[in-house]
Amino acid sequence: MSFVATAKGTVHAWFCEWFKRRMLMNHLLIPKELRPIAEKVEARQRISEADALSLYRSNDLNALGIIANTVREQKNGNYVTYILNRYINYSNICVLSCQFCAFAAKKRDAHAFERSVDDILDAVRIALGLGITEVHMVGGLHPTLKKDWYLELLRRLRELDPDLHIKAFTAIEIRHLAQRIFRMSIYETLALLREAGLGSMTGGGAEIFDAAVRDEICRGKESAAEWLDVHRIWHTMGGRSTCTMLYGHVETLAQRVDHLRQLRELQDETGGFTGFVPFAFEPQTTVLAHVKPASAIEQLRNLAVSRIYLDNVDHLTAYWVSMGLPLAQVSLSYGVDDLHGTIMEEKIFHMAGATTPQEQSAATLQRIIREAGREPIQRDSHYHHITLPPKRSTSTLTRAGTELACA
Ligand code: SF4
Repeated sequence: MSFVATAKGTVHAWFCEWFKRRMLMNHLLIPKELRPIAEKVEARQRISEADALSLYRSNDLNALGIIANTVREQKNGNYVTYILNRYINYSNICVLSCQFCAFAAKKRDAHAFERSVDDILDAVRIALGLGITEVHMVGGLHPTLKKDWYLELLRRLRELDPDLHIKAFTAIEIRHLAQRIFRMSIYETLALLREAGLGSMTGGGAEIFDAAVRDEICRGKESAAEWLDVHRIWHTMGGRSTCTMLYGHVETLAQRVDHLRQLRELQDETGGFTGFVPFAFEPQTTVLAHVKPASAIEQLRNLAVSRIYLDNVDHLTAYWVSMGLPLAQVSLSYGVDDLHGTIMEEKIFHMAGATTPQEQSAATLQRIIREAGREPIQRDSHYHHITLPPKRSTSTLTRAGTELACA
């Protein structure tokens, strides 16, 4: 008996040592100037804003990938998640005219649209038959839709399927609803929306937090403090949300780091962010069309630095709608552990010029994850692995369409 116990202990010790070594980086592959940062990451210590800036300034993409991959494997092992979801943009009519936005319209514009509650329910009913677990809804800051319209939409979606998770509204929409439509506090507005069916908030509208950048790309939009405050209130109510960054326009690297710092600080305070989703700016059809789109290297670098710096956010998503699936697949070696979802209809990025497909099938997402040497697993809206057999089919999402809108 004692021999068996000793053998078991030896195997356990060997496994622990093997696992520890596996988690260590090969420092010969890390340039000298980044080694102190790599050592902090190995020791699970937080990196500073100066460190993040050094990482952003590094051209050694492989080294960034190695460091980011260490964080990713510390947090998520070899898993890559995806969700079966359906995007809905209920309207693109908006009181603002953000310079980076090709989605918004005024009521008089030919491309303005406003979907009825019945029309939205029809689309979601079809998607439920295809196996979705989440509907993701955002729109413009509509000037005239009434409080009852939003509440009816949520209630009827919940009646359609009480298990369907309703992820909806950016912090910018919530503030618009509270101040101009519901005429209530942010807390009261969120409480009413939650009672009607709201499951979680989306992370859009953050852009880059720096005030000078906001003035240049989205003048008149809520400030960073206002965006953060809506999420803070939602988190203190027990709600969860994602957070985002729209980069690759007029911002500096220091302003990106400052954006990440503000997200990390709020996460230290509330712990309410489930994942981070950075988007590269799509300039093609916007008034900022002169801006050069972020290169593939820049997108991978941004993901890697975000993964390394945001040590308190568990998940990092590659948004295949803006990156394209091939680059999203590569990003699985640069810190990413989530490929977002099937989406089914995306408008915001596509109206800005994205040429990626509008949807992906679960089978395609699983295939590209496996090709990257990772293990695919379906998740729910809070990034929990869905381990029980889904009650709905998961293999039939094959139609075309997608949308990226903002608010
Ligand atoms: S980014 Fe959002 S708030 Fe700004 S114009 Fe577009 S829809 Fe409106």
